[in-house]
Amino acid sequence: MAKTFDVELHGIRKTFGSNVVVDRFDLQIERGECISFLGPSGCGKTTTLNMIAGFLDPDQGELWIKGKRMNGVPANRRDLGMVFQTYSLFPHMSVADNVGYGLKLRKAAKEEIKTRVAQALELVKLPHVADRYPKQLSGGQRQRIAIARALVTEPSLLLLDEPLSNLDAKLREELREELKRLHKETGVTTIFVTHDQEEALYLSDRIVVLDHGKVEQIGTPYEIYNEPASEFVHTFIGKSNRLTGHVTGLRGEHVELLAGQGEQVFTLTASPRGRAFASGQPVSIYLRPEKIYLEPAGQAEASVTQERVSVAGQIRQLAFLGSFIECEVAVGSETMMVRVPAGLQPQSLTAGQQVSLSWHPADVFVFPGKGQ
Ligand code: ATP
Repeated sequence: MAKTFDVELHGIRKTFGSNVVVDRFDLQIERGECISFLGPSGCGKTTTLNMIAGFLDPDQGELWIKGKRMNGVPANRRDLGMVFQTYSLFPHMSVADNVGYGLKLRKAAKEEIKTRVAQALELVKLPHVADRYPKQLSGGQRQRIAIARALVTEPSLLLLDEPLSNLDAKLREELREELKRLHKETGVTTIFVTHDQEEALYLSDRIVVLDHGKVEQIGTPYEIYNEPASEFVHTFIGKSNRLTGHVTGLRGEHVELLAGQGEQVFTLTASPRGRAFASGQPVSIYLRPEKIYLEPAGQAEASVTQERVSVAGQIRQLAFLGSFIECEVAVGSETMMVRVPAGLQPQSLTAGQQVSLSWHPADVFVFPGKGQ
């Protein structure tokens, strides 16, 4: 069966003066998907969302929503629900009137408005605040009401522009769980703009990673984290140790590498992941802290095989972070961060201790680099 796309962007481009803010943006969003636009500040997330919403027109390209071409169609004729970063509730209206506003504009009957407002407030688990005014609500409650207001008209598309960024850390976590539940219950196609990678990983079916107005990668959270299309994507999502080095040879399915500087170098291997490398080429080498095994020295010899790389190191310092311990380990001229699950901590870990680090070559990412 052919896929149904609720949103299609074809070659979207937007410039402000000479500044190209969005370029060659292609995306197809399936019905019911939750898609995040993720990227650093200024990468064009909000501009793209505003073009989808109808607040801005693209300079080039086509935008389709539910099979209709939307270029030039005003925002109020696009059947969208929107929630913004700031609480955009009307202060002089009660919660019920705020939530019912969109239905009133559509000239729905009073009884229908009452029923649907009650349903929307149930959905966000705030049926008891209908008669309050926005200033009588907490920040988290106001954002829940803004979400109820966006959903009450049963829009084709829900657009969320950093809706959690004004909330404190605990509330953010609670509300992102709430958003996930609401998405599951309503099945509404959703676009979520954020610069918070954890939020994007948690909520999305697929993530669009943007940098300087260009799409770097579109993929599931798993693909974005484990199969990054570029060095930018790898370093933007999650923590990673960066080593500098160069290619010493190619053997079978592996690239052989030398990392570090001067005398203090060590060898390792990596999977090229489809990229072509030449002997002598400078590279950036990345390894995530949670992919490194740490053992007291003496339990494993320094070695490099196709299956495993082991190197000797010395713990510089340790930090206890609740569920894991972060260890800073000197390896040759390099420093590597290692995350040891706190529950599995070898009793004797101390600063100054000689240790052995090991990892699978498949967990090493290599990108062409300047070697600096
Ligand atoms: P943030 O996370 O900080 O909100 P963003 O990824 O949403 O960033 P945009 O708001 O889309 O980024 O902005 C992208 C670029 O376009 C920025 O360089 C911004 O300064 C510029 N820009 C946005 N709106 C306008 C405008 N109306 N006029 C001129 N430049 C603009």
